[in-house]
Amino acid sequence: MRKVMSNMNWMILALLAVTMTAVAQQSASSPQNSQPVAATQPGQMAGQSSPAQSGQAQPNLAPPTTMDQVVDRVIMREKDLIKFLSPRTPIVETYLQNLQQDPQLGPIPQDDHYFLGRMDLSESIDRSDYLEGKGKDKDEGMEKHLLGGLTKKFKFQYQPLGFSWMIFADRNDFDRQHYDFHYARREFLGDVRCLVFDLTPKKDAGRGRFLGRIWVEDQDFSIVRLNGTYARPSRNNYYFHMDSWRLNLIPGYWVPAYIYSEEGDFTAGAKNKIAFKAQTRMWGYNLKAGTANDELTNIRVDSVKDDTPTAQDATPLAAEREWQQQAEDNVVERLERAGLLAPEGDVDKILQTVVNNIEITNNIELPRPVRTRVLTTSPLETFSVGNTIVLSRGLIDVLPDEGSLAMVLSHELAHIVLGHNLGSQYAFNDRMLFSDEGTYQNLGFKHIPEEEAAADKKAIEMLKASPYAQKLDSAGLFIKALQQRAPQLSALLQAHLGNNITENGTVTRMAQLATSAPALDWNKLDQIAALPLGGRVKLNPWDDKVEIVKAQPVAITSARDKMPFEVTPFFPRLSRYSTASTPGATTAAGPTTTATAANASSSPTN
Ligand SMILES: [Zn+2]
Repeated sequence: MRKVMSNMNWMILALLAVTMTAVAQQSASSPQNSQPVAATQPGQMAGQSSPAQSGQAQPNLAPPTTMDQVVDRVIMREKDLIKFLSPRTPIVETYLQNLQQDPQLGPIPQDDHYFLGRMDLSESIDRSDYLEGKGKDKDEGMEKHLLGGLTKKFKFQYQPLGFSWMIFADRNDFDRQHYDFHYARREFLGDVRCLVFDLTPKKDAGRGRFLGRIWVEDQDFSIVRLNGTYARPSRNNYYFHMDSWRLNLIPGYWVPAYIYSEEGDFTAGAKNKIAFKAQTRMWGYNLKAGTANDELTNIRVDSVKDDTPTAQDATPLAAEREWQQQAEDNVVERLERAGLLAPEGDVDKILQTVVNNIEITNNIELPRPVRTRVLTTSPLETFSVGNTIVLSRGLIDVLPDEGSLAMVLSHELAHIVLGHNLGSQYAFNDRMLFSDEGTYQNLGFKHIPEEEAAADKKAIEMLKASPYAQKLDSAGLFIKALQQRAPQLSALLQAHLGNNITENGTVTRMAQLATSAPALDWNKLDQIAALPLGGRVKLNPWDDKVEIVKAQPVAITSARDKMPFEVTPFFPRLSRYSTASTPGATTAAGPTTTATAANASSSPTN
């Protein structure tokens, strides 16, 4: 294993060459198009889906024969989903960029906001936040789920709960008493044939009712997409527009996964108060609710065995290493349990190959192999604990190529090589006993500035001896692009566990590479210095597994297509649940299978 894998390299390069423009391409095959856009994947055509693939929650119902019956079924399925999700507390992340008009680049970020919390779907929709001092909104009643409003100082304020609210059309009153349903047409979304309905609230239905369009798949009549807004906001408050997507990740249910919101009018003379775009992502649906007793079902003492090679006591150095490993394992396990770390998977293999290539060419021999893991969140950050290097999903998304990925990994590898080990305090298990929401208050892996500088120096040395020596121009360009946007993206650049990549709006991490890089030119269409968020890593909202997005790159035709570090609409390719399409489902993973067994009645395999 320990040799430079050049074939692998090429493959990775190909994977990493996949760009953000996939989103643009997919929207071209838009909902207007009633042709089966799935034609390129004949194996997954909706018409072929067997009964076993469809939802089994209500197996004995006869298919509806009239549109009225369809609507009844839609209402029933939505209530089923609300009930099914009520014991769950998924993670919800909203990343929002306020926009300003740039004459050349169009609307670009002016500043940004980040919200991360756990949703409680038990009675209404409630949330508790991971970030201290944010989202502690105490408004009650109907105002609670407004998406934003003006505070006393006439400063606009976003309400994170509002974004969570958009997972359902109407949590409490989704029925014929409150809504009129108008059938519009049939349409394919990805591989899934849908019926499309326009919804309008009845006259006396009150405030905060959904107004817009829903897409309903044509087998079980579950809502798969909602697009619209909420009607009749009160004075000084706003409901935003939203495009909310669900995925069929488990048999019988389409779970809310992505919400895109956007407001703003950049036509000449428009007096827009609010201009922003925001992505909301949900994941961690299958996370344990956090009571320690759940763990007991998993305990199997007989399977735990000591695999140390010799029967002797450890030498002082061996003991120190064992201690570090224990801390590392504790942290990795705790972060995974909080939904902040993806389970080990394919993306890690790619990261590990790059690390391996740097190690081999630099003759680095470590007592334990370096592992890599992906943080499930968007802010751009990295850290290492013991021999595990952690990169955030958002950071992997925006890196333009393998050279820039090597740059990011080499800094953390340098910390490991230099023995800058942080986190040995976490070998004490009492330090792992905190609520998930307390993760950021209880864990931290920030190095002192001297160690940061030393790691940069060592990293550059290692890169220059590595296969990436010829690819450092792109890494330098990435730093330049980041430098240009850093002052507007303080929330995206706020690290929550590791060191910040920037200090006071200036890139500090690996900044030396920028000095030798070519000039940054947004107008040069073949110069891709950084990608938008969301184009590279796909996070499975059910089991938190991450995979590399497979999408055909789309040609960039203007500087506005580049959208570095920006959020874009979502356009997931919808498909029905099948064990083949969810790689996670086939690799019988320990804890995740136990909770899905609770839904055994809806499993397609029995
Ligand atoms: Zn560092």
